Amino acid sequence: MDLTRATWTDVRDADADRAVLPVGSTEQHGPHAPLGTDTRHAESVAAAGAERHDDEVLVAPPVPVGVAEEHRDFDGTLWVAPETLRTYVGDVLASLRHGAGVERVVVVNGHGGNVAALREATARATRGDGPYTVPFTWFDSVDAGAVADVADHERVEMGHGGPLETALLRHTHPDLVREDRAAAARDDGAARWGEWVAGVNLAYDSDEFTESGAVGDPTTGSAALGAALLDAAAAALDEVLTAVGARGR
Ligand SMILES: [Zn+2]
Repeated sequence: MDLTRATWTDVRDADADRAVLPVGSTEQHGPHAPLGTDTRHAESVAAAGAERHDDEVLVAPPVPVGVAEEHRDFDGTLWVAPETLRTYVGDVLASLRHGAGVERVVVVNGHGGNVAALREATARATRGDGPYTVPFTWFDSVDAGAVADVADHERVEMGHGGPLETALLRHTHPDLVREDRAAAARDDGAARWGEWVAGVNLAYDSDEFTESGAVGDPTTGSAALGAALLDAAAAALDEVLTAVGARGR
């Protein structure tokens, strides 16, 4: 049940025990993919996982700005401090419990930079008076074996605005992919994230190692791969929703 479309009486009558809260980011994803890529992906995965789950699951509206200062030198990127995200997400979680009667929440995250802050926020909610909450970062939970048949690479690398994120966009929001800029994104991009020496990443910001903002080759990554990714992520989220429902604090 999409909270923004439902009425308060719908929510009361559904009496749902579980919710998903998408958390995204507004940050550069190369010249070919929109700034809202991570938010769209968190929303798509949250909706697909809730849909797949047997019991009613409330789908909260997405948090659109996250911890993304590493992309600050690319136009249009927005960010908040980690403590701001922790506090904001914590307040939303508390309101899901007190306002919607939800006792268990899975935070569906679309952005790597949010991971640490979300883990802390969900631990704080769980230990405090929020619902029992765990973070779920969709690309960490997708089993590479599940999409191997349709991947055009032997290894499925996350990158940034690379094959995986662009594939998911090609499936869910093809109108938002600027296909005529994908080759330039690759040519002026980086093969891997960071600038590494002896296991140390010397770079803090992405413009230090990618000129286009992309990491990986977004000319690859078909809509069919995107469909497989969404299916695998929804299956993983369904599994987590079942597990949190069966578990105490
Ligand atoms: Zn992204």
